[in-house]
Amino acid sequence: MSDAEWDAKLRELQSLETEHPELLTPDSPTQRVGAPPSDGFAEVVHPSPMLSLGNVFDREELEAWHGRVSEYVELDRFDMNCELKIDGLAIAIHYENGVLVQAATRGDGIRGEDVTANIRTIKSIPLRLTGYDVPQALEVRGEVFFPISAFEQFNAERAEQGLQTYVNPRNSASGSLRQLDSAETAARPLEAFIYSISGPTGDMLRTQSGVLNALKQWGFKTNPWSRVATDLDRVAAAFNNATKARPGLDYGIDGVVIKVDDLALQARLGTVGRDPRWATAWKFPAEQVTTTLKEIAINVGRTGSLTPYAILDPVFVGGVTVSQATLHNADVVAEKDLRAGDLVIVQRAGDVIPQVVGLAPENKRGPDSKPFEMPDRCPACDSAVVPDEEDVVVRCVNGRCPAQTVRLLEHFASRGAMDIEGLGEKLVALLYQGDFVADVSDIFNLADRREDLVAIDRMGEISVDNL
Ligand SMILES: [Zn+2]
Repeated sequence: MSDAEWDAKLRELQSLETEHPELLTPDSPTQRVGAPPSDGFAEVVHPSPMLSLGNVFDREELEAWHGRVSEYVELDRFDMNCELKIDGLAIAIHYENGVLVQAATRGDGIRGEDVTANIRTIKSIPLRLTGYDVPQALEVRGEVFFPISAFEQFNAERAEQGLQTYVNPRNSASGSLRQLDSAETAARPLEAFIYSISGPTGDMLRTQSGVLNALKQWGFKTNPWSRVATDLDRVAAAFNNATKARPGLDYGIDGVVIKVDDLALQARLGTVGRDPRWATAWKFPAEQVTTTLKEIAINVGRTGSLTPYAILDPVFVGGVTVSQATLHNADVVAEKDLRAGDLVIVQRAGDVIPQVVGLAPENKRGPDSKPFEMPDRCPACDSAVVPDEEDVVVRCVNGRCPAQTVRLLEHFASRGAMDIEGLGEKLVALLYQGDFVADVSDIFNLADRREDLVAIDRMGEISVDNL
């Protein structure tokens, strides 16, 4: 069936359902399109808490975990199911008689948000289960993610529309799942891997690997990489395999989850605090890459402090393209002896901001290489800067410094302060350059200048109206 045919059939079904609401079922394809916008998410209390996971970072720590499990269940050997740890957003989905009835975010693990309408728009999540032995009531858990291949394109389109871009696929998945208008979620290419059943699994299922097979058989998308390891050497081999597979995957992973495979043993082990004793996550070390430090530039903060930052040859690390990194202060730059033109090592792990670790071992300097020095004039307004007595920073003390005003506007509009949607960094800079805002109160007079704003090249009418 072509897309056009599909759309036509879907519209036909929609009008039929509007005329005959009694025919509308929760698993109708029209439910994938999105429900009417809501003004907030209802709270959902998870029947059993959505647990977090303990971490290990090397073989030694893994052996310690294995030793604790061995001692607890008095067994030297037990099978372990290894699964990729997807860097997405955890969700819980409830089915009754095989039909999707509710979906919730993890939230704080005890209470999440009801995102049923949005989850229904994700095509790889079945609205009705298929196959054999579908339980009457079922809660499954998994991870929603934004494919890496779609992310760059998606961000580029947002930038074009003057909308705030997302930092990485994970933030984008989270933002997409928490749209109040589920039609907006439907327009985004979200996917999901389902990896567990919460609550009793019945006599048919005795292992985690068996659970994954059952989930697949019922129509869920499960991660194909999963494997059973009979000992720690095989777990280590699986971890090495995941490390090699990582760059080729279309989703972010941050390690391997190792679960005791036997569900009866899992039940005996139970949880300690919020972490199950029967599972742990073997995390990847922070990813490091080498790139060129093109320039050490100066940022003027909203309080006038001058901070050096690195302008880098753009490089993909830890799930995002990094082209800048903070250098904190002049002492840090001196300690690491960073200079423009150097080859440097950059690292980024999880949601942590990118860091310049230091010089790459293969770095070579030409005759023009000079140690970095802080400027004695503000790069934005050319006023002489003043050293701060208590701190290692220097400050621009010009009250009308344009850089400080822009930073202040950004801070004022940012989440946590006024939370003005659509007023991102780039837009603030644009408004300031265009003489639209000189101080904070001007933001609220923007409506009067709508025509002028639309005339600015990069701003569409939509982003103007958002303001
Ligand atoms: Zn200044």
